[in-house]
Amino acid sequence: MQRRRFIRQLSSSIGAAALAGSAPAIIVRNTLAQTRRNSLGFAFVGLGNYATRLASNLADAEHCHIAGVVTGTPAKEKTWAEQYNIPDANIYNYENYDSIANNDDIDIVYVVLPNSMHMEYVIRAAEAGKHVICEKPMALNTDQCARMIAACENNNVKLSIGYRCQFHPVHQEIIRIGQNKEMGATKVIQADFGFRIGNPNQWRLKKELAGGGALYDVGVYCIQAARYATGEEPVSVSAQEIKTDPVKFNEVDETILWQMKFASGAIASCSTSYSSNFNRFYAAMEGGWTRIDSAYGYGGQTGTTSKGAIEAPENNMWAAQMDDFSLCVQEDRKSRVSGEEGLHDVRVLDAIYESIATEKPVDLI
Ligand code: NAD
Repeated sequence: MQRRRFIRQLSSSIGAAALAGSAPAIIVRNTLAQTRRNSLGFAFVGLGNYATRLASNLADAEHCHIAGVVTGTPAKEKTWAEQYNIPDANIYNYENYDSIANNDDIDIVYVVLPNSMHMEYVIRAAEAGKHVICEKPMALNTDQCARMIAACENNNVKLSIGYRCQFHPVHQEIIRIGQNKEMGATKVIQADFGFRIGNPNQWRLKKELAGGGALYDVGVYCIQAARYATGEEPVSVSAQEIKTDPVKFNEVDETILWQMKFASGAIASCSTSYSSNFNRFYAAMEGGWTRIDSAYGYGGQTGTTSKGAIEAPENNMWAAQMDDFSLCVQEDRKSRVSGEEGLHDVRVLDAIYESIATEKPVDLI
C-alpha cells in the first residue's frame, strides 16, 4: 500500500515538475496538498480480525489510505506501525483517542470494535471532528443509533455503516433489478445467513458486548438484503427463536427465523444461526427470479436470474466501500449506507426480539 501511495505521489510530482518546471521544494508542497485532496486518511479503531481485513483491502483503494490506528494493545501498535508505515504521532489508545482531533493526517475514523462499544467511539470521533464509518450492527438499540446520527450532524461530519455488500457488483445488480421492478413486483424473498461459531468464550456470545447473537451479527445482512432488494421498509415482523445449546448460548440467541411484510405485499422469510452454515438470497418476482449463492461472505458470490447468470465484474468490495465514503466526504454527499440505514435495520432487530418475547407479530408503522 505504501508503495502504491509512493507511486501515486511520485507520479504527481513528476507531472507537477513537467508542467510547472518548479523547484523541488515547491513540488513537494504541491504533492502533499494534491495527496490530501485526492486520498483521505483512515484511522482504524480496534485492530481485530475485521480491521485487519479492512486495512489490507484498503491497499486497492484509490481515494483513501491508512493513516493511523487506535488500539488498547501495545503489541499491535508495533506490528501495525511496521506493516503500514504509520508514524508514532498517528498511533492512539482508547484514553488519548479524543486528541485525534488535532491530527490533520486523519480524516475518517473506522470503528471496528465489539457492538456495544460502537456508540461511544462513533460519538467521540464525531466530537473530534472526524468523519466516521461504524461497523454493523450500528448499535444496540435505536436510541443509541439516533444519538450517533445526532452527534455526527451536530459536529458536521458524515456517518456511514460498514455494509460492504452494497458495494458488491452482484448485490448491486439484485438492487437494480428489484428496485426498477425489471421482473415485476417482488412477491417473496428468502434471505438466510448462519455459521457455526467456535470459541465459547468470545465476545460475540456475551450479551453485554455483542447486544445479541446470530441475529445481531449476521441476521442483519438478511434484513439489509430484503430492504435493498425491494427498496421498501417492512411494515410488520413476526419471529421465532430456537435454542439447542442453552449452555453455549445462554446469553444470546442461537437460531432465529423471522418473516417481514412490506406495504407492497412482498414477504421476506429469513433465518440466521450460530449453529448451522447457510448463506443465500432468493427473490421471486411476478416475472422471474434472482438469487445469490454465498450471498454475504467475503467472496464467491454467484448471482443468477431466471434469464441466466449475472455477469458482474470482479471488484474489491471493501476498497469500493471505503473509496465511496471518501468521495462522499470530498464531494459533500450522503453515504448510501448512512447512519439512517443502520438505524432502520436496528429498528427491525428490536422488533424481531419483541416478537419473540411477546409471541406476536410486531407492527413497524
Ligand atoms: P474481533 O474480536 O476480531 O476484534 C475486536 C477488536 O476490539 C479487538 O482488536 C479487541 O482487542 C478490541 N476490543 C476492545 N475492547 C474490547 C473488549 N472489551 N472485548 C473484546 N474486544 C475488545 O472482532 P471483529 O470480528 O473484528 O468484529 C469487530 C466489529 O466488526 C463487530 O462490530 C463486527 O460485527 C464487525 N464485523 C463486520 C464484518 C463485515 O463483514 N462487515 C465482518 C466481521 C466483523
